[in-house]
Amino acid sequence: MDITDMAKRIRAGERRALARGITLVESGRDDHRVQATQLLTELGQSKEALRIGLSGTPGVGKSTFIESFGLMLTGQGLRVAVLAVDPSSSRSGGSILGDKTRMDLLSRDPKAFIRPSPSQTHLGGVARRTREAVALCEAAGFDVVLIETVGVGQSETVVAQMADLFLLLLAPAGGDELQGVKRGIMEMADVIVVNKADGDLKATATRTQADYAGALRLMRKRPQDPEGYPCAMNVSALEQRGLPEVWETLKKLSEWRRENGFWTQTRAAQARYWFEDAVRNALLAQLDTPSARAALLRLSDAVAAGEQEPAAAAAAFVRDLRV
Ligand code: GDP
Repeated sequence: MDITDMAKRIRAGERRALARGITLVESGRDDHRVQATQLLTELGQSKEALRIGLSGTPGVGKSTFIESFGLMLTGQGLRVAVLAVDPSSSRSGGSILGDKTRMDLLSRDPKAFIRPSPSQTHLGGVARRTREAVALCEAAGFDVVLIETVGVGQSETVVAQMADLFLLLLAPAGGDELQGVKRGIMEMADVIVVNKADGDLKATATRTQADYAGALRLMRKRPQDPEGYPCAMNVSALEQRGLPEVWETLKKLSEWRRENGFWTQTRAAQARYWFEDAVRNALLAQLDTPSARAALLRLSDAVAAGEQEPAAAAAAFVRDLRV
């Protein structure tokens, strides 16, 4: 595989090259990892897309929202990529976010690129690869990258580490359910969007939005927010209402953050996070070589037999690992 050629094609916006590049970064094979790292290095810094993290529990309307919102953006001439971090894919064996029938219209839009979640054994691996896929989409010149995740807590945290803005999608619900959203997730949100504000659900959606707007006002003001943020809005993804307002709200926030230095600051902090994550992973990989495994087994037998202290054995193991 000619990585330099692949990088050139990705930069030229060739979808097939982008898809192959993403397959490469998703691969767990050692030789692919080397090539993926080379590819990311060759692509280097590129145009910055607006990366939007989007989370919500199953059934809240994420795919309907992404389809409507994505089509609105492509209708404005913007190129939109959709990626997914799906923490359930390892459990179910198949990715629910990878369902081909979702986002049918958007997936056929030449200005859009949809990539289902990689199936991986643990969230950490999926997250790292998704971040690299985001970088490839950015290199391919996409204006907006939507990173979708299912709201189960842990996955939002990693998506927040690769997104510029975080959007939390909620369903209309009674006041009791406000407590159902974990505080940590609320604190991550830049914009809370209450979906399904249509038909019979409209009044409930309006009330839910007001509840969340109230809850957000009670939260500590974050330095990276201008006046009026984070905020709560309501939309109907199905009837395509409220979407231009969401887009304006997101754009205004990202512009403010750019002008006030928070954009660069966040991206720098994220780069640090992924660097440290990569270091940790590289160290863990060193434990997984045949010689390391053999040494570990030998020492753990000695510890089990009472011949060595756990701490001393561990220190010896780490010392030998370095040489
Ligand atoms: P996801 O699991 O979060 O991706 O949710 P889906 O987009 O698959 O939507 C789940 C269900 O909610 C589907 O039956 C949608 O038709 C419905 N739905 C999504 N958005 C809306 C909306 O704005 N209004 C109404 N009434 N239903 C919606």
